[in-house]
Amino acid sequence: ARSVLPAVLGADLQVPLGSGATASFANFDHAATAPCMVAVAEAAQAFLPWYASAHEGSGTLSAMSTARFEEARRVVRAFIGCRDDDYLVLTRNTTDAVKLLAMAVPDGTTVVVFSSEHHALLLPWQDVHRLPIPSSVEDMLASLDDALRTLGGPVLVAVSAVLNVTGELMPLEDIVALCRRHGARIAVDAAQLAAHQPIDITALDVDYVAFSGHKMYAPFGIGVLAGRPDWLAAARPHLAGCGATVHVGDGTVTWASGAARHEAGGANVVGAVALAAACQTLQTAWNSVMPYESVLLNRLRSGLAEIPEVVEVSLFGTTSERVAMVAFTVDGVDSALLATALSVEYGIGVRHGDFCARPLARHLSGERTAVRASLGLGIGVDHVDRLVDAVRTISEIGPRLFYVAEDGAWWP
Ligand code: PMP
Repeated sequence: ARSVLPAVLGADLQVPLGSGATASFANFDHAATAPCMVAVAEAAQAFLPWYASAHEGSGTLSAMSTARFEEARRVVRAFIGCRDDDYLVLTRNTTDAVKLLAMAVPDGTTVVVFSSEHHALLLPWQDVHRLPIPSSVEDMLASLDDALRTLGGPVLVAVSAVLNVTGELMPLEDIVALCRRHGARIAVDAAQLAAHQPIDITALDVDYVAFSGHKMYAPFGIGVLAGRPDWLAAARPHLAGCGATVHVGDGTVTWASGAARHEAGGANVVGAVALAAACQTLQTAWNSVMPYESVLLNRLRSGLAEIPEVVEVSLFGTTSERVAMVAFTVDGVDSALLATALSVEYGIGVRHGDFCARPLARHLSGERTAVRASLGLGIGVDHVDRLVDAVRTISEIGPRLFYVAEDGAWWP
């Protein structure tokens, strides 16, 4: 039942429809940014009177802010099962975390990524070896195995835990096993996993994990890069400035070690407190969150599957394991118009387009692009039914605002 689930803000938000009526907003865009958890908002609000600089001042508030910041870091470390010597750097988001890792990769190391990745994981590397979009799990593992066999020198494999376009889970354990067999390091982008399933860096035996607060109910602009200390300790500071140094002389500088090396400038203490609250809440709620989301997802997918015009989009086939989202097209209805109609006529927010993973999006649905409905704690069964009903109506009569003919022509 919903009552045992962590609550989020905005669950009863009324939004205006084009018709002049209002509807409670159905937020099927959790994968882009999840709503704020009530526990997160409460933690942030309770902390705000105490909010001050961290690691910079010596007043009481600053000492308290510093303590809360470091306590939050410990909570996040526990949430992802960090090893004792792992660094856990608080960043702006996943994009920032991956960029930090990219800058820390030692010269001469090849980074291997699949072209199916989100741009944040696809683009920031210096010396990158891109593998084609895999056609199946077996193909993915075979192509990675091949690359690891033939590439000389040190290798870092960067892979997402969950594909952000389709929600499909990647075969992480097998990928880790391949990396270990060939002596490669592995970095996991957990941006689309962190809100839906636990991830444990030690149990999974991966070298780095990155994720974003805003996709796991913790706004305020925070993200995480956690992992092996050696590259991060040797890397040029991600941000050069106050807090990242132990000594600055005339023309000389000694950089700090530890996470501080990469966290110069005013710390996002509220973001850290918020993220820690989200971690603590999720950690005690997985037993209700995971089955709840799987019920919603099954209901959504089976509802859509009954609509003849709907085609579910997936990389490894519709039976592949997935979390929290479904991507689909509707025959005869342009995806941009479908997304607009869902918003304007039904108060349903979805995403359409390239999903910042253009090669994969184009591979899956060509120029048509797909619509992605992603869910989480802000979604109820009633929202799912509303979405399915709306897609059915639109697929039968076309959106009332626009209609796309078979030949692609459209008119208002
Ligand atoms: N990786 C994946 C798999 C994502 O889905 C996203 C967000 N769409 C990102 C990275 C980037 O996250 P952020 O925008 O928080 O940096």
